[in-house]
Amino acid sequence: MPDEDRTTPATTPGTATAPLETAQAQLSSAVEILGYDEGLHQMLATPRREMNVAVPLRRDDGSIELFRGYRVQHNISRGPGKGGLRYSAGVDVDEVRALAMWMTWKCAVVDVPYGGAKGGVTIDPADYSTTELERVTRRYTSEIMPIIGPERDIMAPDIGTNEQTMAWVMDTYSVNMGYTVTAVTTGKPLTVGGSLGRATATSRGVVHAAAAALAEAGVRLDEVSAAVQGFGKVGSHAARFLHEAGTKVVAVSDEHGGIQSSDGLDVPALLAHVAEGGHVSDFEGGSPVSNSELLALDVDVLVPAAVEGVLDAETAARVKARWVVEGANGPTTTEGDRVLAERGIVVVPDILANAGGVIVSYFEWVQANQAYWWTEQEIAERLEQRMAASFNAVSTVSRREQITMRDAALIIGVRRVAEAHQIRGLYP
Ligand code: GLU
Repeated sequence: MPDEDRTTPATTPGTATAPLETAQAQLSSAVEILGYDEGLHQMLATPRREMNVAVPLRRDDGSIELFRGYRVQHNISRGPGKGGLRYSAGVDVDEVRALAMWMTWKCAVVDVPYGGAKGGVTIDPADYSTTELERVTRRYTSEIMPIIGPERDIMAPDIGTNEQTMAWVMDTYSVNMGYTVTAVTTGKPLTVGGSLGRATATSRGVVHAAAAALAEAGVRLDEVSAAVQGFGKVGSHAARFLHEAGTKVVAVSDEHGGIQSSDGLDVPALLAHVAEGGHVSDFEGGSPVSNSELLALDVDVLVPAAVEGVLDAETAARVKARWVVEGANGPTTTEGDRVLAERGIVVVPDILANAGGVIVSYFEWVQANQAYWWTEQEIAERLEQRMAASFNAVSTVSRREQITMRDAALIIGVRRVAEAHQIRGLYP
């Protein structure tokens, strides 16, 4: 799998706070602000349904290897489960539970009619051939067939998976159903029902969120500098769009390390270098910087766009940026959040900042269901409108209640899910 399709861990797995701990602490904080009772808290904290499967692979050399696969549907009160599929050696069920919970709040905060779900397979795609990855994907898909579908649970790419993976999932599901079901995945290639603008939607949304946060302080993107951690599907295009908007992108990194240049990096040249198979760190237009040093650079905007838990109490204390715009899911731990808030650093939280991906996934699903395709401009405009409306709603609650944007986004999302749950009532 080519490098640009991957964003693998920038930290050593196991050293950071567990994502599920962070996700549960965030929910507890929202539940406390909302004054919900313990019964409702438990309903919101507990996944509705989980599938834990063995995924055996026949390798190209004939040997057999076994992976674990998971699909967690955290909540389906507002609509079908929705969320990515992650391929990473360190994936475990608790990480998938956390990511599924974040999807629930994310879909609710930007008001797309979905619940939240996530999948994972314990495989490092860099170590396997394309045909092996295809077999793993098809076997995983057929194992979880009973719980997925365009009205049940819709998959999309995440770390370690891409458009091709979604085409295989869609094909496996369709062959088993006996007809083509394009709406079972999003983030597909255009030729099989993908949407224009989906591949870069998360990154566009991150840049819209950054622009909106800056605008509140009367600052424009072309007046600031930025550092981006992660150069995969989210970070690479976020760096490009920031660069195009006139932001001085002074540092970027991937899992092998990063580069910096106080004059600003030539982002298009860097993208070309990575597209040819190079690592960010061997690009010649800058000096080396580690992933940890990047977080502490003297920049205006920091975009963590790699993995969970990179901003903890210790790293958050070193952040010099005035704005942190979360491209990754769960990059900041609860302690990290507390430190950033105490230091007056504005955090545009993941469930808002990186929601552009699922917004355009929703557009893709709507288009697939109608078999009618929108133009790139329609998609770009509708994405921008939804990001702006969601940002304004979160920002208004944050100012009115004197709470962080994370808490504001969470209480909007959690409340929408709780209301859907309450109005539907408990069966039986
Ligand atoms: N993996 C993406 C996320 O975390 C995609 C979600 C989707 O489009 O379903 O938001």
